[in-house]
Amino acid sequence: MGRWIEGKTLADKIKEEIKEEVAHFQKTANKAPGLIGILVGENRASQIYLRSKEKTSRALGIAGEILTLPAEIKAKLLKEKIEELNNRDDVDGILVQLPLPAHLSAHDIICAISPEKDVDGFHPFSLGNLLANQEGPQPCTPMGIIELLKFHHIPIEGQEVVVIGRSMIVGKPLAAMLTNENATVTICHSKTRNLANVASRADILIAAMGRAAFVLPDFVKEGATVIDVGINYLADRAKAAELFGKDEKREKDLAEKGYTVVGDVHPRVFEKAGRMTPVPGGVGLLTVAMLMKNTLEAFKRRRKLKEASQIP
Ligand code: NAD
Repeated sequence: MGRWIEGKTLADKIKEEIKEEVAHFQKTANKAPGLIGILVGENRASQIYLRSKEKTSRALGIAGEILTLPAEIKAKLLKEKIEELNNRDDVDGILVQLPLPAHLSAHDIICAISPEKDVDGFHPFSLGNLLANQEGPQPCTPMGIIELLKFHHIPIEGQEVVVIGRSMIVGKPLAAMLTNENATVTICHSKTRNLANVASRADILIAAMGRAAFVLPDFVKEGATVIDVGINYLADRAKAAELFGKDEKREKDLAEKGYTVVGDVHPRVFEKAGRMTPVPGGVGLLTVAMLMKNTLEAFKRRRKLKEASQIP
């Protein structure tokens, strides 16, 4: 039987530290970090994610704002809007909420963000620094996973880690971070042969694929640490009952919201894993905390640069 690795304690601790530091800057320099989230169109999930980021930033004393733009905006105009934000002194962090409407290339748009304000860590400049194991903003979800492993004293160095998923948001940057931490990393994806076989080698198995309850007990080595990154919206009551049995919280969600949030890892894996993150209540809580951390770091780096440039 495993043990749960919940995310709230660490997320609250990180946010509390950020809040104190922001209050310090506010008091001593009368300045607070500024964060702008750009929402293109009306994707419901994106609206919810951005509102939660805005709410958290305000609770920590960070000036959070959402810039909403029409779904049909042309790439050229969107990049001009980003350039305006690049030039605004009160803005330290800019993020573009993904996914973007199909006519826009996420890569092209993210490249328009000034690397010094890239708080999502998705800009090629930031990703290059990550590969080179240099300082700079790093993607928030993978950063949260590394922090969570360290907080729970789960060794990374020399461990066999298997990451299922190779997206630019989670899988690939996470594999780079784990390599920087001296783990032996295998990345799996939709074309991997014998997935269960490869996954079951892992001391730490990380599922970031977006497939509800896909990772079954035979994917998991006895006693392994299992990190479930998946966020899947399950509306099928019969499937939910099959996965979770009688679960009042999930039944309430299904009745009130029409869905329950399910990870990529099957609940039965808990019996075989040494430790496992829950969904909800695990990795997801750290993503926003890491965004706040990146925003505070961007603010500090920019102020330092400014101070340095003012030295006669
Ligand atoms: P994505 O769709 O961009 O990538 C999914 C990856 O999984 C791909 O690399 C694909 O090759 C792999 N994959 C899909 N089906 C597979 C299969 N059957 N076998 C092996 N590999 C398979 O997704 P993403 O943006 O990386 O997100 C992955 C999941 O993590 C989603 O559920 C997403 O909601 C969640 N997520 C959570 C957070 C968080 O804060 N907790 C943040 C980002 C993403």
